[in-house]
Amino acid sequence: MNLKDHIRHVPDFPKPGILFYDISTLLAHAAAWAEAMRQVKEAVAPLKPDLLVGIESRGFLVAAPLALSLGIGFVMVRKKNKLPGAVVSHSYDLEYGSDTIEIQEGAVAKGQRVVILDDLLATGGTMTAAVDLCRKVGAEVVGTNYLIELSFLNGRQRLADKGVGVHSLMVYD
Ligand code: 5GP
Repeated sequence: MNLKDHIRHVPDFPKPGILFYDISTLLAHAAAWAEAMRQVKEAVAPLKPDLLVGIESRGFLVAAPLALSLGIGFVMVRKKNKLPGAVVSHSYDLEYGSDTIEIQEGAVAKGQRVVILDDLLATGGTMTAAVDLCRKVGAEVVGTNYLIELSFLNGRQRLADKGVGVHSLMVYD
């Protein structure tokens, strides 16, 4: 099965000139979704994580079912002001302005091995910020995983510069 057959390409979303890689069609196809999750599990299990971290919101779709399947916990990284209770925040620069992501205090214990998952790696800005946040709370980030990687945006190199590995199921050059 070619997983790429199940990714829909949507031109001019969310802005004119952007080609959006839509995973909705993959999620809606039971056999393709099962095969994608099987491949993600095969890549993540050898890293022996204690916990999986998912990035809001499509990262949750991969990380939560995989955590269940691996028999480990799942932790959310969310945009500012979405998580209740005490949180640890990290702000990072965007092309225009900045953004803040948060994780709940105590969600990760110091020294725990985590793999961070998202649906897609583009410039690596989002994942780099999530790595910084996880490190801030004492996690050991043992890898990152994506369904899709846009290799021409060099996110892989940006993560390598942080000392973090990248694994993706579908690469677009
Ligand atoms: P980056 O921070 O690596 O430049 O962008 C990656 C983030 O933007 C991910 O959280 C991802 O969900 C989102 N993203 C950017 N472009 C796309 C796209 O074409 N398709 C999907 N599904 N997500 C995208």
